[in-house]
Amino acid sequence: MLQLRPNCECCNTDLPPDSGAAKICSFECTFCASCAEGVLGGSCPNCGGELVVRPRRPVQKLIQHPPSAERIFKPLGCAAS
Ligand SMILES: [Zn+2]
Ligand SMILES: [Zn+2]
Repeated sequence: MLQLRPNCECCNTDLPPDSGAAKICSFECTFCASCAEGVLGGSCPNCGGELVVRPRRPVQKLIQHPPSAERIFKPLGCAAS
């Protein structure tokens, strides 16, 4: 099950579970759309994998399966190379 991390690793912007702007790689490194499509060029800076739109979890499922509250923020990891 997806963790649904709460923020972008690059710019620390909030990405709530109902956000359509969240992008993830296969390891669930999580970024906002502007970082993913901008500075990152569509690739995860941690693993090199592709970033795709994170599916939204229906609100009624979030009660039983809440999103992760752990913020991961690595501003150095996504500096333009
Ligand atoms: Zn971002
Ligand atoms: Zn990754």
